[in-house]
This record gives sequence, C-alpha cells and structure tokens, in this order.
Amino acid sequence: MNGTVRGQRVVVVGLGLSGVAAARRAVADGAARVTVNDRRSAAEVDLSAYAELVDQGVQFALGGHDDAVFAEADVIVLSPGVPPLDAVVRAKARGVLVIGEIELASWYTEAPVLAITGTNGKSTVTTLLGEMLESSGFATFTGGNLGTPWCDAVGHEPTAAGGRCVIEASSYQLEATRHFRPHVAVWLNLTPDHLDRYGSMAAYGAAKARIFLAQRREDHAVVPADDPVVLAFARGGAAQVHTWGGEHSEVRIVDDAIIGPGGLRVPVSEIGIKGSHNVGNAMAAALAAHLGGASVSAIARTLRSFTGLPHRMQRVVEHAGVVYIDDSKATNVGAALKALEGVDRPVVLIAGGRDKGGSYEPLVQLLRAKARAVVLLGEAAPLMSASMGNSVAHQAATDMDDAVRRAAALAKPGDCVLLAPACSSLDMYKNYAERGDAFAQAARALKGGAGS
Ligand code: ADP
Repeated sequence: MNGTVRGQRVVVVGLGLSGVAAARRAVADGAARVTVNDRRSAAEVDLSAYAELVDQGVQFALGGHDDAVFAEADVIVLSPGVPPLDAVVRAKARGVLVIGEIELASWYTEAPVLAITGTNGKSTVTTLLGEMLESSGFATFTGGNLGTPWCDAVGHEPTAAGGRCVIEASSYQLEATRHFRPHVAVWLNLTPDHLDRYGSMAAYGAAKARIFLAQRREDHAVVPADDPVVLAFARGGAAQVHTWGGEHSEVRIVDDAIIGPGGLRVPVSEIGIKGSHNVGNAMAAALAAHLGGASVSAIARTLRSFTGLPHRMQRVVEHAGVVYIDDSKATNVGAALKALEGVDRPVVLIAGGRDKGGSYEPLVQLLRAKARAVVLLGEAAPLMSASMGNSVAHQAATDMDDAVRRAAALAKPGDCVLLAPACSSLDMYKNYAERGDAFAQAARALKGGAGS
C-alpha cells in the first residue's frame, strides 16, 4: 500500500460515480472526515440518492468550490470531469495532497495493474485487454475512465494479489497521480485533443507521460513503433520498452497476419474489430496481454471474438443503397480521420459539436479527397465551415434529424453517411452515446418514411 487516508480529512470533488466511489473508499479506510463537494447546489442534487453516504457521516458541501471547503483538507480527491479549479490550485500550493480516484484506488490494489492511455482507442484496447486476461482465467477488473470506478473494485478478488486490473487512464486522471505505478503501461497515440484545457501539445503529452512516472525496471511500457514522440517519452522512463507495429517489434504484421510472442498468429481478416486503426489497437492489446500473463490461445480467441464497443464505427442501417455508420465517439480530429480512412465508399460526413481548440485542416484535406459533402452541426459549425471554404461542399443543419435528412438527400447509392463529429457532444447532448443514439434513431426513421 502506497498511501492511506486513515485519520485524514478528505474532500472529494465531483459527486459522480467516481466521486461517490472515492468517498466510500475514504470512509472504509477510516478517514477522520469525508466531505463531498460539487458545483451543483443542494436544490440541483437529489440527496436521497446518496443516503448511504449520508448514513456513513459523509458531509456535503454543495453549490460551488469555495476556499472554505478546502481550508481544513489534508487530501483532495478529484473526479475525472472536474475542470481546473482555482481553490484547488491554492490548496495544492498550501501543501494539500491533490490526487485522482485512480491514485486512491491504486493504494489498495495488490494485483498487477495494466493501464491504457492515448488520444484515441483507450476504451477499445482496455476492453479487449480485459477480455484477454479474463479469458486466460484471471479474476479481472476492467474500468477506470470507462465503466465502473476502480475504487468500487477494491476489496474484491481482481484487486487481490492474483488478480489483474485493467485501467483506462485519461490525461485528466493521470494529472492527479503520485505513486500510481502500472506494471504494464500502454500509450496508444498522441494527436491534438483537449487543447482548450492544455493550451499546447507539449502540456497534453506531458500529462499523458505521467503513466510512466512511477514505473520501475521490472515494469513494461508498451508503445507504437512508428510514433517517435510517444517512444521518446517511454524511453525516458525506467520501465522496459516494448513496441508494436514496427519491423522488429514483438507484435507486428507479417503476411497480413498479426504475429507475436509464443507463436501468436491471427490473420488480419479474422480480427473482430475492423479498420486500420483497430489493427494497431489489436496489436497493442495483444502485446500488453502477453506481458500481463495472458495465454496465447486466449489472446487469439479474443482478437477473433471481440467486435468492438457501441458508437465506434457501428453500422446502423442500410437504406436506398446508402450505409449509415455511427462513430459518435470520434470526438476529435484524429479519430474522425481514422473513421474516414476506414470507409471505402464516398462519404457524406456529419460533423460538428463543441470545438476543442485544435485545427480542422487535416480533416479538410482528407475530406477533399473522400467526401461528397459535409453536414455541420452545433457550436463548431461556423469554424469548420470557415476551414472548408469552397473546397468541400457543406451545409449546416439545425439538429440531428435535420442533419440526417440532409445527408440522406446528398448521398447517392453506394455512399456512406458517417457520423464522425471531430468535436465533443456537450453543446447539444449529455454525452457521445446520446448523440450516437439520436443519429441511429434518425437514420432508422428514414427507412420507415416515404420512399423507403
Ligand atoms: P477513447 O476511449 O480513447 O476515446 P475509443 O476506443 O472509445 O477511444 O475510440 C474513440 C474513437 O477513436 C472512435 O471514434 C474510434 O473509431 C477512434 N479510434 C479508435 N482507436 C483509434 C486509434 N488507434 N487511432 C485513431 N482513432 C482511433
């Protein structure tokens, strides 16, 4: 155990799944006082949903993030979605320990930890890797940024010595780590995202590089052979560096098959997740799983059986010779590029949402080659329209139903209507899943409409 909150005054910021899990953990560890703090006021929060915490004596400081809330804190635990807060910065400057929920959970975990970061592909690789380990017979926890908070798994078999914990770690969560030491740290890629928060690629990269910070010689860093920036970060750490996808990598493509340690060989055509980016994801997961103790047969079996997560290049419907694909999780330019590259038909792209501060130029270049037209949505529509200028046909829509109807009118038989927004969904939706569902519903409705 690297730390404890026993006898300490803990303030948890963010009353979401992760915050509740952290508060529960702090109580279980014997914290002297646990306070949960949220921007929302008491009127906006349904406290009856937190009866368990209230019963355990957890205090609620709601309606903002005043300095007074943090005045007597020994430890502050930040939830992943919490933006940088001045009061927390000031508390940190006073010497208060500021950590995230994954740091807290790691203190109570004996099992080897496999952590995954990167701009894109984290959830896919985390899920794939978790299934490979599970299928090898390990009691496995798969979560973190994705699904169940890690703190909720503490005390169960996967966090005990013989288990495995597969943790999706966003840059936000990595910023608030200290002793977090993955036995296997996977960094998938680094392309522009969250620049509204970080201001520069250097700062964004440095946050992600913290995944290697506490690693030691007996640990492993797993990185793409063809990304010099990520590779350099890995080499700067203490762990052994392993690569995928290069000529001399431990896992690579030979004769259209993924090959790897222990005789692993799976033809690319048999991998359940499709698209060139997913071949990289599959290689990364296979290499990490091997280092985490998974068997070759379980790795091969999972590569074939896992067909991907919802809202990632999901085929929704075919209507009038046009295929509708939901890649709502393409919330940045890098992911939208991969989505476009993965479609071998002319594309009518539906894009837009909340801008994140990067450049749309790489997307516009590919659109010139591949897009029949673009339909724009949300706050970023004017910015995207300006970067396309006259070089790509585009029009603006008022909402998703309108966008899908416009896209359907523009598409010709043999085309694909692709939702790959290159922006976050938060200007119009609760999250990317709600946006994807709205797209799927609108696309299916076309089929029921006149002329179908
Ligand atoms: P994350 O959890 O990092 O957001 P996901 O697995 O949910 O990653 O995928 C997010 C989006 O990025 C999806 O739209 C997917 O099609 C795309 N994507 C997945 N893997 C990669 C990759 N290796 N490189 C670029 N884009 C990717």
